[in-house]
Amino acid sequence: MTTLGTEQRPLWIAVIGAGPAGFYAVEALLKGDAHVRVDIIERLPTPFGLVRSGVAPDHQSIKGVTRIYEKILADPRVRYFGNVSMGSDISHDELLTYYDQIIYAVGAQSDRKMGIPGEHLIGSAPATSFVGWYNGHPYYRNSEFNLNTHQRVVVIGNGNVAMDVTRALLAPVDTLATTDMADHALAGLRASTVTQVVVVGRRGPVQAAFTTPELKEFGELPGVDVLLDPVDFTLDPISEAQLAENKVAGRNHEVMKGYIERGLSGATKSIHMQFLWSPLEIVGHYGHVTGVVMERNRLVDDGNGNVKAEGTGATRTIACGMVLRSVGYRSVALPGVPFDDKRGLIPNIDGRVIDTANQTPIDRTYVVGWAKRGPSGIIGTNKPDSVATVTSMKADWESLNGIADGHRTGYAVATLLTSRSAQIVTYADWQKLDAYETTNGNTQHRPRVKVVDIKEMLDIIKR
Ligand SMILES: Cc1cc2nc3c(=O)[nH]c(=O)nc-3n(C[C@H](O)[C@H](O)[C@H](O)COP(=O)(O)OP(=O)(O)OC[C@H]3O[C@@H](n4cnc5c(N)ncnc54)[C@H](O)[C@@H]3O)c2cc1C
Repeated sequence: MTTLGTEQRPLWIAVIGAGPAGFYAVEALLKGDAHVRVDIIERLPTPFGLVRSGVAPDHQSIKGVTRIYEKILADPRVRYFGNVSMGSDISHDELLTYYDQIIYAVGAQSDRKMGIPGEHLIGSAPATSFVGWYNGHPYYRNSEFNLNTHQRVVVIGNGNVAMDVTRALLAPVDTLATTDMADHALAGLRASTVTQVVVVGRRGPVQAAFTTPELKEFGELPGVDVLLDPVDFTLDPISEAQLAENKVAGRNHEVMKGYIERGLSGATKSIHMQFLWSPLEIVGHYGHVTGVVMERNRLVDDGNGNVKAEGTGATRTIACGMVLRSVGYRSVALPGVPFDDKRGLIPNIDGRVIDTANQTPIDRTYVVGWAKRGPSGIIGTNKPDSVATVTSMKADWESLNGIADGHRTGYAVATLLTSRSAQIVTYADWQKLDAYETTNGNTQHRPRVKVVDIKEMLDIIKR
């Protein structure tokens, strides 16, 4: 058998998922002397994962990172198989037959539940689906959000996603209309009667997970007042110590105190940032959300130098017509691949996927990104994370036997996928769709007008 990783016998590697983590893994694999061929398998026709369907439309500059990913897609050693879903179009065992190594870069495609009564009511939705809806993710394009029979939305959670959805609800639609926000969302927001968003965190302002630029953006929204309760800023000793140590918390604190000092301007819209409240129940009438019952918390020492929220028993109800639950994303179990249900991710040691029963690595399978470490970190965080997994993969090359020669041609898997997927989308196909979207965008002075229906995407490619 010829040595693996040579010109005669390159390593064949499959990357499942075309989000940031997948691209950084490919970039790391292509570096070095070994001859490597990479196939990127993505369930959507479009690449770029949450950069396309998560990052807020009013954060266009961040989306510029896709220029790096485009270069990777253009590399002759890389093939793109869009519109191919691992699980339904190709199984884990089949991937093991055709590839020397497999990397799962599937992100976190679901949401964490709060586990409180009323979560199922109409008008209660995970921020995941609202984000997918306004960003034109094909799976969420038909989601319905009632924005025009009430004035108040409660957003539960204190991370940057909570900040993004709040801005989307209250930013001037004419401004959003200069972005790549999906047209159906622009229409929905234009008809919106929402004037107030209450953003609720279970712990205090010092423990909030949002970052300062997002917090400052609240204060820059035209026609929107930011309200905070000074009582929430009387800090316990642990929070005081955290404030002194944590630079982000310190900067956030300054910005929020600035909002308190600024007071109200009489604007017609407002954001109410409320700390130390936990939702107990979402209440409704005839199946529709009418409010959230909240319990007041106090912060207590958790014994590990941190604070935890503890209910005081005091409750109140915030009347509202919609609740967006922004308490975290969660990975989805893939058939034939180990899954840690408690943590909502693919279990691994240094990126090697492990069998949780005996804690040992399974055959030639690796994981990167949010599927590896859970839904935390910005786009850039995925780069060192992917490099670390690829370092494990390269270390394993020495003991790798490799797949059968007949399966190493690249044609075999392409033939199988063609027989399974309705229509494989290649990199050239994506370029065609990209050109279509950006050309339409140019005419409207927008970065692009997104096509949000998979069938329409495939029709445009076929034309
Ligand atoms: C709402 C939101 C806003 C954000 N805003 C910012 C921001 O402003 N700045 C910033 O730096 N970071 C931001 N982030 C974080 C950033 O998006 C993530 O760090 C990053 O996208 C995670 O990369 P990933 O590749 O692990 O997952 P993803 O980006 O989710 O990519 C996973 C890919 O796998 C594909 N996939 C899933 N299952 C399958 C399957 N079975 N078969 C084939 N393909 C599959 C998916 O379609 C997707 O394309 C934001 C995140 C969210 C949720």
